[in-house]
Amino acid sequence: MTMTGQAFDAVAIGSDIQRRVGVKTSRDEPLARFTTMRVGGPADLFAVAHNAFELRGLIKFARSRRLPHLVLGRGSNAVISDRGVRGVVIQDRAEGVEIRDNRLLAEAGLPMARAATVTQGAGLSGLEFGLAIPGTVGGAVWANAGAHESDISEVLESATVLLADGSERTLPLDELRLGYRDSRFKGDPQEIVLSATFRLEPASADQIKLRLDDIRRWRQAHQPLGLPSAGSVFRNPEGRSAGALIDEAGLKGFSVGGATVSEKHANFIVNDRRGSAADVRRLGEHVQAEVARRSGVELEFEIVFLGDWAGWVIGEGFA
Ligand SMILES: Cc1cc2nc3c(=O)[nH]c(=O)nc-3n(C[C@H](O)[C@H](O)[C@H](O)COP(=O)(O)OP(=O)(O)OC[C@H]3O[C@@H](n4cnc5c(N)ncnc54)[C@H](O)[C@@H]3O)c2cc1C
Repeated sequence: MTMTGQAFDAVAIGSDIQRRVGVKTSRDEPLARFTTMRVGGPADLFAVAHNAFELRGLIKFARSRRLPHLVLGRGSNAVISDRGVRGVVIQDRAEGVEIRDNRLLAEAGLPMARAATVTQGAGLSGLEFGLAIPGTVGGAVWANAGAHESDISEVLESATVLLADGSERTLPLDELRLGYRDSRFKGDPQEIVLSATFRLEPASADQIKLRLDDIRRWRQAHQPLGLPSAGSVFRNPEGRSAGALIDEAGLKGFSVGGATVSEKHANFIVNDRRGSAADVRRLGEHVQAEVARRSGVELEFEIVFLGDWAGWVIGEGFA
């Protein structure tokens, strides 16, 4: 059903999108391969936006028809339901990028790792931490992603946003409400980041390369990079480390189905490639319950559960 209560006719909507926006869609597209956790059922309709023009067009089309829709970056912070996503899923692959006046201007679909290497090549420092973030610029602004003693808020100057009313505005940093893994976008899925401008510092390419090498080494040593995951599962509670609390609760290596608390980093859940989204969520909820029982700390999910989770009961799964 659509937001107007009519049945979602994927064939008709798909051919309308092709005709009006010029973008091909696919029906019942399995979404697991568009996420780093490698779980998730089908999207009713799936479209890839290859540039900002297509991204705007797809979102405006979905809004004008009041169709449910979801913008996905690289799916690196998301666990999509095994039942999939109703409506239109738009993968943002608008990756335009420009260097001007010590700034990086990036479309929202640019991978953060590319932002790190492009700025290295231009002799600009500040976005090296992007190498640690397997998501897009848009997803990183949404999360105020950060690593290695920095985060988006340290370097972002402004973001151009498609607002809920369909208008576009370039918002300065202080209007984006960036906090610890937080932004105004988490509260309003109707606001979409179209592009971002980062203000950087000139530095020698060799110096930046050393920093990138350090980050690569640290990640190899500390993160379970060989297996599908969605990064840190829980936010760090004030003054505490979620990973340490999970480790102290003896949960490293604990599994539900194909999902396991990583032995290498307790705040990661890894998928043995046979796991489901339900396995990941059940394991996450078990970790929450055990940590609360042993330490009294209520861990909050940092990963987002997207798609059709209707009927899911905490601690029990689908009713
Ligand atoms: C191995 C690994 C390591 C990681 N390490 C870190 C780390 O060190 N630090 C860190 O902060 N994170 C880390 N992450 C998490 C993740 O990479 C970040 O949160 C990233 O910013 C998510 O971007 P994405 O494009 O993949 O977003 P997605 O997962 O695709 O989407 C997440 C949410 O953002 C929304 N969104 C996506 N694009 C836009 C847009 N253009 N406008 C508005 N909303 C949008 C989506 O609708 C969704 O709700 C890690 C993940 C993995 C798998």
